[in-house]
Amino acid sequence: MKTYINPPLSDWTELTKRPTKEAQDLQALVLDVFNEIQTNKDQALIDFTEKFDQVKIEKLAVSVDEIEEAKSLISEDLKQAIQLAASNIEKFHTAQREEINVIETTKGVNCWRESRGIENVGIYIPGGTAPLFSTTLMLGIPANLASCKNIILCTPPNKKGKIHPAILYTANLIGIEKIYKVGGIQAIGALTFGTETIQKVDKIFGPGNQYVTAAKQVAQNFGVAIDMPAGPSEVLVIADETSVPKYVAADLLSQAEHGSDSQVILLTNNEQTLNETIIELESQLAVLPRAEFAAKALENSRGIVLNSIDECLSFSNIYAPEHLIFACESAENYIPKIINAGSVFLGNYSCESAGDYASGTNHTLPTNGYAKNYSGVSFDSFIKKITFQKLSAEGIQNIGPAIELMAEAEELFAHKNAVSLRLLDLRNKISQS
Ligand code: NAD
Repeated sequence: MKTYINPPLSDWTELTKRPTKEAQDLQALVLDVFNEIQTNKDQALIDFTEKFDQVKIEKLAVSVDEIEEAKSLISEDLKQAIQLAASNIEKFHTAQREEINVIETTKGVNCWRESRGIENVGIYIPGGTAPLFSTTLMLGIPANLASCKNIILCTPPNKKGKIHPAILYTANLIGIEKIYKVGGIQAIGALTFGTETIQKVDKIFGPGNQYVTAAKQVAQNFGVAIDMPAGPSEVLVIADETSVPKYVAADLLSQAEHGSDSQVILLTNNEQTLNETIIELESQLAVLPRAEFAAKALENSRGIVLNSIDECLSFSNIYAPEHLIFACESAENYIPKIINAGSVFLGNYSCESAGDYASGTNHTLPTNGYAKNYSGVSFDSFIKKITFQKLSAEGIQNIGPAIELMAEAEELFAHKNAVSLRLLDLRNKISQS
């Protein structure tokens, strides 16, 4: 991890950059893969899986036997842990459902919104370097709550052509039946165009590496919506003298271990906190099974001492981290000043792993600065809201004249006429009675 003491403001733009490739660098590759999928469908998926995942698969769809086998391979303890996480995620996302609220804007004019689940959704579960079965809960549970009709799950097979049993157990637990062994760009292509086996969807969800993220962005040009660009994970920790360096180091490593393209940032107003955290980082890294990934991610990472916690927050708002851990005892006092972040963890006990697995919040979050303009996945991501209105005779009489004037001013006389005809009928009715 590179360290900096009070870097000048002019250096902040460089210091807030990510190590990721630009999306356009990957665009040509994505378009080639997409073209091939449009032509050769399932066969293209099988060929690209052989090329990018180095495994030849016979069948894309996971069978009932494979799911039954997976269930028998998961320990009771892990099943209970998954069920606890599922219950918290369900509680948090159920509370996001909105009641229908009919608003009478003017007497006789009633307006309201109703939610409908997006009918066909694709959920991508990363599996290249770690089987993220927790993502199955994060995407599958809100999709179920939104009553999405078809939930299509894609995840890359391992070198034996299998899906990790915990992904299959979790998918089965929450009732997802359509599960396919395909990952990377080719999974996103399948969900975008459809193949003989995999159904085309309306919206694609899920995190992934740079290939997956670039493919999701290109998919939007073909009429598919996406949740957000949720690429390589990142965490920014703000620490002061009240933070615990070994916790801070563990939190930084928890994101660094995701992949060599992950990035972690430590900001502090206290040089001693930085130095103690770096000592902890070295000793914890030495015993980490995924040390190779984490060490590479740390090469892209930064420890920065700034003048004050307020300055740390200004830097953080420019960086717009996917995860912000505010590891200071006074963290709650600063909440109103947090403008750009995907998900925030306050105080010494709120480790990011809690949100990654089991506290209830969603772990599918915007990366690469997109927390400036996107929210993380929630119940809302799986629904569309339709507006309704009902005007009574009194209602059209109350707002009709204003509409007529506005339509005339916009020179849209058919719009005006749609109101004038009704108002005329109503006037005639009144005069006849
Ligand atoms: P993945 O499933 O995202 O990607 C694996 C696929 O990448 C493979 O199936 C392969 O097809 C493709 N691929 C690999 N190398 C390729 C190449 N050279 N050319 C073309 N395609 C290639 O799994 P992963 O790699 O383990 O990455 C998971 C990612 O998800 C990590 O970067 C992690 O940080 C991120 N993540 C993000 C969030 C979030 O909310 N933003 C949450 C969890 C995980």
